[in-house]
Amino acid sequence: MKPDLFEAPDYYNLDELLSDEHKLVRQAARDWVKRDVSPIIEEYAQKAEFPEQIISGLAEIGAFGPYIPEEYGGAGLDQISYGLIMQEIERGDSGVRSTASVQSSLVMYPIWKYGNEEQRKKYLPKLASGEWMGCFGLTEPDHGSNPGGMTTNFKDKGDHYLLNGAKMWISNAPFAQVAVVWAKNEEGRIHGLIVERGMEGFSTPETHNKWSLRASATGELIFDNVKVPKENLLPNKSGLGAPLGCLDSARYGIAWGAIGAAMDCYDTALRYSKERIQFGKPIGQFQLQQKKLAEMITEITKAQLLAWRVGVMRNAGTATSAQISMAKRNNVDMAINIAREARQMLGGMGITGEYSLMRHSMNLESVITYEGTHDIHLLITGLDITGLNAFS
Ligand SMILES: Cc1cc2nc3c(=O)[nH]c(=O)nc-3n(C[C@H](O)[C@H](O)[C@H](O)COP(=O)(O)OP(=O)(O)OC[C@H]3O[C@@H](n4cnc5c(N)ncnc54)[C@H](O)[C@@H]3O)c2cc1C
Repeated sequence: MKPDLFEAPDYYNLDELLSDEHKLVRQAARDWVKRDVSPIIEEYAQKAEFPEQIISGLAEIGAFGPYIPEEYGGAGLDQISYGLIMQEIERGDSGVRSTASVQSSLVMYPIWKYGNEEQRKKYLPKLASGEWMGCFGLTEPDHGSNPGGMTTNFKDKGDHYLLNGAKMWISNAPFAQVAVVWAKNEEGRIHGLIVERGMEGFSTPETHNKWSLRASATGELIFDNVKVPKENLLPNKSGLGAPLGCLDSARYGIAWGAIGAAMDCYDTALRYSKERIQFGKPIGQFQLQQKKLAEMITEITKAQLLAWRVGVMRNAGTATSAQISMAKRNNVDMAINIAREARQMLGGMGITGEYSLMRHSMNLESVITYEGTHDIHLLITGLDITGLNAFS
C-alpha cells in the first residue's frame, strides 16, 4: 500500500468551531492511525482478519468509552471529541471504527446507563483498557430492521436465568469476552443481559466470506440453555427503547466516522488528479474530474456541519433520535458516493490494494446497512415530520 500522505480537508475553516482539547484528541487519533493502522490495514482486510494488535492503541487514544466518565476508566470527553475520534479511525478503516463503536456505544454505554454500580465497576475499566472486548447482540436471523420481533428469550429459574436463541451479524463476536444481549422475558419484555465467554451453551461462530468490513470480525451468538447469573441483568432500563438508546450513540459516531472515510477518498483522488498525466495534462485539469472533486468537497463540508451540529445538540442533551438518523443516513450516503467517484478517478489503480478506495467503498456497504438501513432511516425522518408510521 502507498505511504499514508493524508491531509484533512477543512474548506469552511470548521476548526474554528473546535476547542484546543478537540484538536489535541483528533491529532492523537490521526497520528495513531497513520502510524499503526495505515501500514497494516490493507493486508488484514485482504486476509479477512481483525488486527488484534491494535486493541491497546485504540484504548490509548480514548476510542473505548470516549465519553464514559474517568472514574470507570473512560476518557471523560465530550461528544464532539467522541465524533472526531470516530472520524479519524474510520479514515483508516470502517472495520476498525466498527470495533471501537461497538465497544463504546453498544457495550460500555448500556452497562454505564442501564447497569448498576457493581456492573459498572466490574466491566467498564476492563473494557476501557481493551483487556476485555465486547459485542452487542440485537439482530437475529429473522429480525433485522424489526428487532422488536426478536425471539431470543430467557426464563426465570429461581437462582438464574435460562437463555435461548440466536443472534446474527454480530461485530466483535468471534473474540469478545463479554456480550450485551437483548432478549425477551416470559412476559415478552426486552431486557439486556451480560453474557460472558465460557458460559456453558454459549458459542460464537465466525461469519466468513464477507466482501465488506473484512478487517472486522463478525459472527453469530448462539444460546443453548445458557445459565446467566441473575446479577448479569441490566436493571435500569427495559423495552425496545433500551437497545435503541445505544444505537443513537453509535449512529451519531457513524455520522462522524463516514466523514473520515470520505475525506480519505477525496484526499487520495485530489492528489492523484494532480499527478496522473493523460493527454499531456494532469487529469485534474479536465472539467469532468474537477466536477467530481468540487462536488466531493461540497458534500464533505455539508456533512461536517451536520455532524458538528448534532454533536453540539448531544452535548446539550437535546438531539433527538430522528435528528441522529438524518445525520447517519446523509453522511454514510455521502461517503459511499464519494468512495465510488474517487475510485473511478484512479482508473484501474483504484481497484487495487495500493490505495484505500476500493476497501472504503466495500466497507461502506455494511455501514449503510447496519445500525438501521438507509431506507429505515428515511422512514424515521418520514415518521418524525408527518407523524405517520410507514414501517408496518
Ligand atoms: C458487517 C455487519 C455488522 C453488523 N454488526 C451488528 C452488531 O454488532 N450487532 C447487531 O445487533 N447487528 C449487527 N448488524 C446487523 C444490522 O444491523 C442489520 O443487518 C440491519 O439492521 C438490517 O437487517 P437485515 O440485514 O436483517 O435486513 P432486513 O431487515 O431484512 O432488510 C432488508 C431490506 O428491506 C428493507 N426494509 C426492511 N423493513 C422495511 C420497511 N418496513 N419498509 C421499507 N423497507 C424495509 C431494508 O431497508 C433492507 O433494504 C451488522 C450487519 C453487518 C452487515
